[in-house]
Amino acid sequence: MIDDDSKELFLHAVWCELDKAKSKFPWPNPNLAALMEEVGELANALLEKKDIREIYKEAVQVATMAARCAIEGDPQFKT
Ligand SMILES: [Mg+2]
Repeated sequence: MIDDDSKELFLHAVWCELDKAKSKFPWPNPNLAALMEEVGELANALLEKKDIREIYKEAVQVATMAARCAIEGDPQFKT
């Protein structure tokens, strides 16, 4: 079930991770490659039946990199 509290918690985690990611890997960052890496880590966490906290963490990182692709684009694919 996705209720308002769980949505807010997830989005807050993405907000925090976005700040962390931007400061650790500022623009220009290969955002699409990073997103694909995170998708792979999320898939592995699910396939390996890891703890739900690990799966959640990877899902937050996927959403964070998707946000960076949406907001910043990717320097390797300039439009
Ligand atoms: Mg990860």
